[in-house]
Amino acid sequence: MVQPCIICVAITGSVPTKAHNPAVPISVAEQIESTHEAYEAGASIVHAHVRNEDGTPSSDPEKFARLQEGIKAHCPDMVIQFSTGGRSGAGTSRGGMLSLGPDMASLSVGSNNFPSRVYENPPDLVDWLASEMIRYDIKPEIEAFDLSHIFQAAKLFSEGKIKETPYVQFVMGVKNAMPVDRDVFDFYVKTVRRLFGQEAQWCAAGIGAHQLTLNEWAVANGGHARTGLEDNLRLDRATLAPSNAALVQRLVDICDRHERPVATPAQARRLLGLRPSEAQGKA
Ligand SMILES: [Zn+2]
Repeated sequence: MVQPCIICVAITGSVPTKAHNPAVPISVAEQIESTHEAYEAGASIVHAHVRNEDGTPSSDPEKFARLQEGIKAHCPDMVIQFSTGGRSGAGTSRGGMLSLGPDMASLSVGSNNFPSRVYENPPDLVDWLASEMIRYDIKPEIEAFDLSHIFQAAKLFSEGKIKETPYVQFVMGVKNAMPVDRDVFDFYVKTVRRLFGQEAQWCAAGIGAHQLTLNEWAVANGGHARTGLEDNLRLDRATLAPSNAALVQRLVDICDRHERPVATPAQARRLLGLRPSEAQGKA
């Protein structure tokens, strides 16, 4: 059987605002509604940041708690992934919401440049975030902004700081970090398979117009794919994406073209070795 493709929707991020695209969900209520539409369109993972009322990035655990509760109510089996990325807070505040026990959390394991600053992920903070994920039974998604980050994931795994086979996301097209380069992409895939086994699951994300390119490459090569307004605001040069769901639909169409079924949340949980949802548990 062809492996289903897991669609992750990154609904908000910490950078885009309503001035960039009015469809970017900012309040928790908007985030829940946007997630629900994306879920109905085919997303099985939601990757979430939270914002303050004025739109600036927040790491407030109380907001994450309300978001988690709303998503569980409207999208009962959806995989919830919180961001511990460094734009939303500093130091250990980046992991302040992990005690809520989401299914997954993003984990950056090394540093690199971002468009206008250094994305700092010092080893002691990475170790602490990883240990909190073990403590609360959260599967990390390793954000690979660079080849060295895949090797760092292997090192953390060998040291027992990551419990299960690392699930790596290749991030390409961030200004001043790894560009969208096909040879590098192929080498990333080869490296993940060499280090973690031929069956290792992986996913990919592209920024801006490159979202479409990375969606195509990931779907065609047996990986999983991320979309959403965090990474890209447009359907094409001239057209703003009307919603996260519209970007999910675009990715569903790519899956159809490549004859990859879109993973249900239950399939996504099995593929990633996650616990069944509370909703499934009750069924
Ligand atoms: Zn993010």
